[in-house]
Amino acid sequence: MEYFLDVVLPIPLERLFTYKISQEEAAILQPGMRVAVPFGKSKIYTALAYHVHSNPPIAYEAKEIYQVLDEREVVTQNQIKHWEWIAQYYMCTLGEVVRSVLPSAFLLESETLILSNKETEINEMELRDDEFLVYEALQHQTVLRIAEISDIVDKKNVLSLINALVAKGVVLQKETLYEKYKPKLIRYVKLAAEFEDETKLESLLNNFTRAPKQSQVVLSLFQLQARTKKPVPIADLEKESKTSRAIIKALVDKGVLEEYRIRTDRIQYAEDSITFKNIQLNEYQEKALSKVQQSFDQKKPILLHGVTSSGKTEVYVKLIQECLNEGKQALYLLPEIALTSQLINRLRDYFGNKVAVYHSKYSIHERVEVWNNVLSNAEKAQIVIGARSALFLPFSSLGLVVIDEEHESSFKQFDPAPRYHARDAALVLASSHGAHTILGSATPSIESMENAKKGKYGYASIDYRYGDVLMPEINLVDIKEATRKKRMKGHFSEKLIDAISEKLEDGEQIILFQNRRGFAPVVECTTCGHVAQCPNCDVSLTYHQHRNQLRCHYCGYHMALQQACLACGSATLDKKGFGTEQIQEELGQLFPEAKVGRMDLDTTRGKFAYEKIISAFESQEMDILVGTQMVTKGLDFRNVGLVGIMNADSMLNFPDYRAHEKSFQMLTQVSGRAGRTQKRGKVLIQTYNPYHQILQQVTTNNYDKMFEEQYYEREQFKYPPIVRIIKLTLKDKDFNKLNEAADWMATSLRNILNHQILGPEYPPIARIRRAYLKNILIKIPRNQSLAKTKNSIKRIEKSFNAISKYKSVRLVYNVDHI
Ligand code: ADP
Ligand code: ZN
Ligand code: ZN
Repeated sequence: MEYFLDVVLPIPLERLFTYKISQEEAAILQPGMRVAVPFGKSKIYTALAYHVHSNPPIAYEAKEIYQVLDEREVVTQNQIKHWEWIAQYYMCTLGEVVRSVLPSAFLLESETLILSNKETEINEMELRDDEFLVYEALQHQTVLRIAEISDIVDKKNVLSLINALVAKGVVLQKETLYEKYKPKLIRYVKLAAEFEDETKLESLLNNFTRAPKQSQVVLSLFQLQARTKKPVPIADLEKESKTSRAIIKALVDKGVLEEYRIRTDRIQYAEDSITFKNIQLNEYQEKALSKVQQSFDQKKPILLHGVTSSGKTEVYVKLIQECLNEGKQALYLLPEIALTSQLINRLRDYFGNKVAVYHSKYSIHERVEVWNNVLSNAEKAQIVIGARSALFLPFSSLGLVVIDEEHESSFKQFDPAPRYHARDAALVLASSHGAHTILGSATPSIESMENAKKGKYGYASIDYRYGDVLMPEINLVDIKEATRKKRMKGHFSEKLIDAISEKLEDGEQIILFQNRRGFAPVVECTTCGHVAQCPNCDVSLTYHQHRNQLRCHYCGYHMALQQACLACGSATLDKKGFGTEQIQEELGQLFPEAKVGRMDLDTTRGKFAYEKIISAFESQEMDILVGTQMVTKGLDFRNVGLVGIMNADSMLNFPDYRAHEKSFQMLTQVSGRAGRTQKRGKVLIQTYNPYHQILQQVTTNNYDKMFEEQYYEREQFKYPPIVRIIKLTLKDKDFNKLNEAADWMATSLRNILNHQILGPEYPPIARIRRAYLKNILIKIPRNQSLAKTKNSIKRIEKSFNAISKYKSVRLVYNVDHI
């Protein structure tokens, strides 16, 4: 009897591929194991075993596989089912899902680049002959393709050899180069608590008469504290007192001073310091928790709607504890990698080393490690926190999924395929495991709130901040009026300037939110009106002062800022609009003493750039943090007294049916960063349009009103969640061809789905990376079968693909486009 294996190849082709296997291989192969297979003329791929059978393929002669790479499955059956759902629902191929969700170390192929690992000591004697050959070759050449390694050892299939070398730490894959995060250890000093007692302090100071240097240190400490109203770093004290470390240390040893750190370092975590904190929920949290449990008893997901700083995290902690008690794994999804580091420290206070982190900024090796720990249900990975991709880990007994900040649109993957929504995919995953799901937010998305209102989800709310902390006081500042009266300094109103001065004096920190990065979005010639454009995309170039460059935010194109207009040669260039960088510069002029930091896409490119900025702000090395929407999300800073929103209007006027919902969420969230401890926080929103209904709803914290109005509009204009939307984007470098193809597509779609088709239309940016774009929106009523509609679309796509002149046109589906 002949045996065959169907495999999933990590490529964007719809079908499975069939290979020939031996009887022995057929006996050991399980779905979810990896096999090395030949493909095309000379390529080698790692493929995923899908199904063993004995039916030869009809259209082609099956090739033999090269080798079975695993002794046991690395992907579970449950995962494959989930990924098939994703492929089907989001209209892509299973191969694309596999390619995007498996750590790339699992998917070696002939084109993978291999380099030697300089970090490990290699004992050459322990290498097998062929391993040694590869090792030696890499001493002479920096990188090798796997195909080249094949030549070196004179073997066709070398993937298991490479896998072994990777496992032994002899070689690395090209992408594995990464920075190690070294937390900055800033040490602070304060007077020991004992000397807060005045008589004790007095006798201490009297004692110092014979130790003038020590006395100088203590007095300097008082002065610094009085002046900065902030924790005093040892380094500053040393400078101020003009003494030495040794003298400060002597005082610490004597017990006069105490050394401490503000909030232990992220990432690094000493095992012996685990305290296994126990928390007592307050009455509101208790109430919410019992509602959550009721909902779980009914096997329903629940929406937890708790205002910012209401203590949602602590409710999750209780649920995670219960989940672990039942011996099950918990998954905690966050919308942003930036948030994982703050959360991991919090969770480790409760769960110690049972918490693992998984996200795309981790190195391949770390990801493989977490993958394997989850697969083997190891102690170390009972709780996994991560952004979108953590959803694809090989959970064997998932008991709980927490989706924090569920309203965040960054849960939706935009590019490449699969263009999935992590929240929705997580709900499907949880239900396949029989796991519970909790979605939490201070500003739930319209669709989740609708699900709660319709009873599809349970609903619990917490309306008060934890610890009797008041909601921040939010005020609108009319900058139209202020501009007219010439009362603005740059982009700052007098009110905002006064508020910043006040907080700086009080030693409190400030967050300024500006929705745009860069310095000035455009540089315009005042003589002829010319604005420099990106040669590849239909956008104006953005001025970045720091590098004195014009940059495209879509394709990365950049050029040096010109001295004169490119069109007319005049030197009268004017910078219009404003971004984070310009705010930072204006602050430098307005408050030269203040330390200002910036968090946006440009400052957070490095692996641990987020952590660095967040921890610097947290340890109060900065007074003011200027940022884009990155600063709005769920961060828990202790000392922020003021949040300023530089301009609310650009957000509100964005041409998108969700603009109002998103603005409400963003403004409420960023406001929520203020006053999370005892003192009431302050928020100032600068706007040209203070009567806008969304701004009114933000200032009065009126989510219900926002929901009601937005829902009504969605009903009127037929937008989600009233209908489902599939966005079909066509791309081509040839403008005329694109238009013709888009018209053909839209006409064919209208033939079957008539009034549900909008477009084709150019998106706001109609050319990106030299390709022209056109969108067709397909609106699908809730009562119409989504699967059937997709099938109709797919049939039209088949006819489209058969038209030879449209061959170069790319089609991209975005299901539940947001
Ligand atoms: P949210 O996620 O709702 O914005 P957090 O969970 O961050 O709120 O809680 C806000 C602050 O209150 C945190 O610093 C948290 O440690 C504290 N907190 C919340 N609940 C409790 C509790 N039951 N006991 C002690 N501290 C709590
Ligand atoms: Zn000009
Ligand atoms: Zn561009």
